[in-house]
Amino acid sequence: MKLCGLIGDPVEHSLSPVMQNAAFQHLGLDATYALWPTVAPEVSERIASLRSSNVLGANVTVPHKQLAMPECDDVSDTARLIGAVNTIINESGRLRGDNTDAYGFMASVKAAGLRDGRQATALVLGAGGAARAVIVGLQQLEFRRILLVNRTAGKARELADELGGGDVLAVDWESLDDSLPESTLIVNATSLGWHDGEMPISPEQVLLVSRDALVFDLTYRETDLLREAKSRGLSTVDGLEMLVRQGARSFSMWTGKEAPVDVMRRAVQAEQARRAGSR
Ligand code: NAP
Repeated sequence: MKLCGLIGDPVEHSLSPVMQNAAFQHLGLDATYALWPTVAPEVSERIASLRSSNVLGANVTVPHKQLAMPECDDVSDTARLIGAVNTIINESGRLRGDNTDAYGFMASVKAAGLRDGRQATALVLGAGGAARAVIVGLQQLEFRRILLVNRTAGKARELADELGGGDVLAVDWESLDDSLPESTLIVNATSLGWHDGEMPISPEQVLLVSRDALVFDLTYRETDLLREAKSRGLSTVDGLEMLVRQGARSFSMWTGKEAPVDVMRRAVQAEQARRAGSR
């Protein structure tokens, strides 16, 4: 049997094993995906163990995505741009590091019907690790302008300087009301949304969003932001789709096979419902 797993924090409650194992089973592959809880000092040894011939590869999650990069023999351009490796592929003992988050974001945006960013402005709320992947994805979708706003304004400015070629611009929270109406895509990449009552922008600011905009929340649940946006008739996407699409891309990299995206989506939806029911 071939092995895959998630190298992450010991307290990780990841949905990845559920969706990856559903995909292996669906395609009748003799492989399994496990949680590999790892503390930072053990990351190097854990990644070295992926060279074994029975290992397909691994996912790496917060907080080890940066530590994983120097442990790989080759690192993709996308992973370098994002500054993090979330997928490692074992290629006959050589380890290739990649990052599928930007792809997962792009695939979800396209699935929601927004295919061409060339004339469009996107507004990203947040400037952490997820925002970096989102910006790289928006650049690959050729968005004309990418506006960044963050609680700690300096971090948004640094990120814009680092990733921008003039198309990425940091804006202040104070001028957010001007940026909302001109944005075709609004992305919540802050940590706000996991609990009821948390919103990265106020309900009044949701009223300023353009009628034809898509509101994308990276949180994998229906957040208050998405509920407000829906009640105004705006199109919305939650983070579950991005989670599934990035996982599907990792699956294809390990197996060389097309991932059964619908099977994977249904598996995580069922697991989420199960967890919600047992709370
Ligand atoms: P991170 O690196 O810790 O960044 C967190 C961001 O949220 C920072 O910009 C931070 O601003 C902002 N923030 C935190 N608390 C805030 C508050 N009270 N008010 C305003 N802003 C606040 O985290 P991350 O890895 O980027 O993850 C961000 C979110 O994306 C999480 O909810 C995560 O679960 C989700 N995510 C989803 C996917 C997916 O596949 N769907 C993938 C990756 C991440 P400061 O800089 O001011 O601290």
